[in-house]
Amino acid sequence: MYELTVEGGFSAAHVMRGHPGACARFHGHNYRVLLGVEGDTLDATGMLVDFAELKIVFHGVLDELDHRNLNEIPPFDTINPSSENLARHLFERLSEAFSGRVRVSRVTVYESATNSVTYREA
Ligand SMILES: [Zn+2]
Repeated sequence: MYELTVEGGFSAAHVMRGHPGACARFHGHNYRVLLGVEGDTLDATGMLVDFAELKIVFHGVLDELDHRNLNEIPPFDTINPSSENLARHLFERLSEAFSGRVRVSRVTVYESATNSVTYREA
């Protein structure tokens, strides 16, 4: 099994509805995102997937959230834009975007330099 990891990021604002503390106030994060993809079979050039192709799709999906108020974008207009929900959303969007060409193994969202959440299928 091979697993590739690429790193990207986006900047966005949000509020955490129902949060008892400061997170209920409008604020922003420079999110850092790690994407893991996996597979068993290499192509004729010895690669699972070209990093260049991986990054085009990855950055396209991240651009959907970049410089936005996350609370205005579905599904975060109805569920909180927590890092947990962001990681699952990105996992699902990226799985869709790769449409079976490569399997997404995990998505890690850093909301700060020291706090991160990883979503992967059990
Ligand atoms: Zn926040």
